[in-house]
Amino acid sequence: MTSYVEKRRRLVKNLIREGVLSSEEVIRAMLKVPRELFVPETYREYAYVDTPLPTFCGQTISAPHMCAIMCEALDLKKGLKVLEVGCGSGYHAALCAEIVSPSDKNMRCGWVLSIEIFFELCKYAVENLEKAGYSDRVYVINGDGSITPPSQIMFDRILVTAAAPRIPPDLVACLAPGGKMIVPVGDTWFQTLTLVIKDPFGQIKIKYLGGCVFVPLRGLKGRGSLANI
Ligand code: SAH
Repeated sequence: MTSYVEKRRRLVKNLIREGVLSSEEVIRAMLKVPRELFVPETYREYAYVDTPLPTFCGQTISAPHMCAIMCEALDLKKGLKVLEVGCGSGYHAALCAEIVSPSDKNMRCGWVLSIEIFFELCKYAVENLEKAGYSDRVYVINGDGSITPPSQIMFDRILVTAAAPRIPPDLVACLAPGGKMIVPVGDTWFQTLTLVIKDPFGQIKIKYLGGCVFVPLRGLKGRGSLANI
């Protein structure tokens, strides 16, 4: 039987061949983070098929190629402070953490704060991150990430892994000058992956990176109130 390590290696090789993966940092992280630990037991054999998979509460873990595209576009570097909205399984947060604070370096530098609206998924992500060895670099909180996070921190990078009806203004506000945010923007069925770049003077530039499909961003500034969950 093919080992997970081998399956992971093959997936990464395919993503490089398809032109999805190119930077050394993202390739190293995709080779390192064990996706099988972030996938529910029932679907474990599909952990290295390039597809989203169900998690809990009707939510999904994104497909590996989508995680790769988002990490590449964010231009993640060692030492950065990252905010993720939509922790889900914790897999994408672990990938980001592996880049901003690599496991093979003794000193922890960057970190990831990841917000998840479903308490059950928060518990799931915390367990997964613990097992995979990222709980010292990924902090998970239960809350509504469509609004200003409960901190005074300005983030270098922000990724929203659920479909927003518009670019979330509260998140643009906590993006540091020189920072980048990636967010799928659109309706329930189809979105455009949108890169928001804040220059050192605070001016915003937008780039559209193509079509995508994510589960809806819930919460106050997402698609409807908390009562919907
Ligand atoms: N990044 C995840 C997958 C994202 S699926 C992973 O690597 O597994 C999108 C996630 O966003 C779901 O878990 C959903 O519950 C969460 N979500 C939706 N709206 C949210 C909100 N307003 N705040 C925080 N999390 C939200």
